[in-house]
Amino acid sequence: MTGQRQADLVDEERFPEGAPAIQEDSSAASPARKIIFSFPALKPARLALGAGLKRALALIYPPVCVACRAATGDAQALCAHCWGEIGFIERPYCERLGTPFAVDLGRGLLSPAAIADPPVFARARAVCRFDGVGRELVHRLKYGDRAELAVTLGRMMVQAGHELIAEADLILPVPLHRTRLWSRRFNQAALLAQVVARLTGLPHAPAALARRKRTRQQVGLTRAQRADNLQGAFRVPDGTRPQIEGRRILLIDDVLTTGATVNAAARALLKAGARQVEVLTFARVVTDG
Ligand SMILES: [Zn+2]
Repeated sequence: MTGQRQADLVDEERFPEGAPAIQEDSSAASPARKIIFSFPALKPARLALGAGLKRALALIYPPVCVACRAATGDAQALCAHCWGEIGFIERPYCERLGTPFAVDLGRGLLSPAAIADPPVFARARAVCRFDGVGRELVHRLKYGDRAELAVTLGRMMVQAGHELIAEADLILPVPLHRTRLWSRRFNQAALLAQVVARLTGLPHAPAALARRKRTRQQVGLTRAQRADNLQGAFRVPDGTRPQIEGRRILLIDDVLTTGATVNAAARALLKAGARQVEVLTFARVVTDG
């Protein structure tokens, strides 16, 4: 694993390097908490450029590929080369984990990993593998184009996750801890969740799940230590519990790596009365063999 890739993985799991585990003040009157709940990930106006403005912008800025920046015919799209290179995840895959199978042995099969260690969430789906073009797009969303790219990636997520969307009542992003949010001032999961909600018409509750404590860096920990590190990292505030109870939740994130983060989030949601939790990400780490 390269250093850059490892850095991305650490970032995805949202563990500040070397950060100690700090228990958050649980006072409901904390003004800081109000700020995180009202954080405007994206102003709706930015999503809805008028057709005239779009045409004018296309004259000034000719469309380029969202991944490699080569000239292309359509705005906010992949060029033919990148489309061919992106590692789309399609069936056959594990019906629970969404990890691709090398050989098609028929529909409805589970992977050995899903049977040996069943996830807390019901199903996970992703548009593509977290490598090559897929990794570049996640990187751009994090550090670059953001709002417009989120619409493009969100569209692809709606397609890849249509079976999950058909059964979902509510969309939720995987939240960042507030200190993390402040340092980067941006949660790409919230941005993607907002786009998916807008495209599907599903209700969106960005504040219904909160991050309780800062977790230690996951790198170098065993699987059991990772789960322990995340224990209690998420909570459903009392005020938002009615939004969760009895609902089928679709959790949104940019990348799924080990699944430890979404499992911890799913556990908190089920504990708060959610009927079902499923996971839709743009990319996911796939380990072959
Ligand atoms: Zn390209």
